[in-house]
Amino acid sequence: MLERSGAAGVVLIIAAGTTIESCAAVRLLADSHPGVRAGVGLHPADLEGPMDDAVEAELRALAGHSSVVEWSETGLDYMPRSPRWDIQQDAFRRQIRLARELGLPIVFHSREASDDTLRILREEGAGEVGGAWHYFDGSLALAQTAMDLGFHISLAKPLLRLPELQAVAAALPLERIVIETDSYPQPFKKHRDRWTEPWHLPQVAAKLAELQETDVATVAQATTANYLRMLGGRVSAEELGIPAAP
Ligand SMILES: [Zn+2]
Repeated sequence: MLERSGAAGVVLIIAAGTTIESCAAVRLLADSHPGVRAGVGLHPADLEGPMDDAVEAELRALAGHSSVVEWSETGLDYMPRSPRWDIQQDAFRRQIRLARELGLPIVFHSREASDDTLRILREEGAGEVGGAWHYFDGSLALAQTAMDLGFHISLAKPLLRLPELQAVAAALPLERIVIETDSYPQPFKKHRDRWTEPWHLPQVAAKLAELQETDVATVAQATTANYLRMLGGRVSAEELGIPAAP
């Protein structure tokens, strides 16, 4: 996967853990591969119970490694089979406080939970560290509220197929957009070769360029610079072998 993404021109992969075990694994992956960094956090749909002090201590220790550059996949997921909402909200609040304590940007997940997500981000002062709304597929008004709170809008492959999202993307300021693919595995897709991988990122960039009526090089440069700025200098253009932003 890393070879395929490198060949496609992807210069940085943030591998996001979703459980304690996968956070430890992505940290090791990031430690041993120059174009990979890690995000740690607990995904709301992966919570097995309330987040307790022991889990918090483990996350804090993991987040202290230099290859961990953001807090990611915390948030709210209100799908029918997801964990109890009060458990999710408590874990989300605790993780926002940890991210603020450690000064890490928050890349959050929100599914069917926009109002509660934005309310908790606001109540917890998450804008102090900022970050991005990952896999955004909401309205322009929601995007505006998130941007007003200090967050970027992260667009992924739904941009290729959702006309409403395309209209939103056309209206967003390019300096507040970052792009991603979200990650494999996607066992719900029958064919392995249809799983999303980072080498698909240029497809998102090309669609965004078309919608913003600019060229793909401009989008690539802007979204990369936006992401590096969002990471607060934890990853430099030089380390990635690309020109520094003007
Ligand atoms: Zn997610």
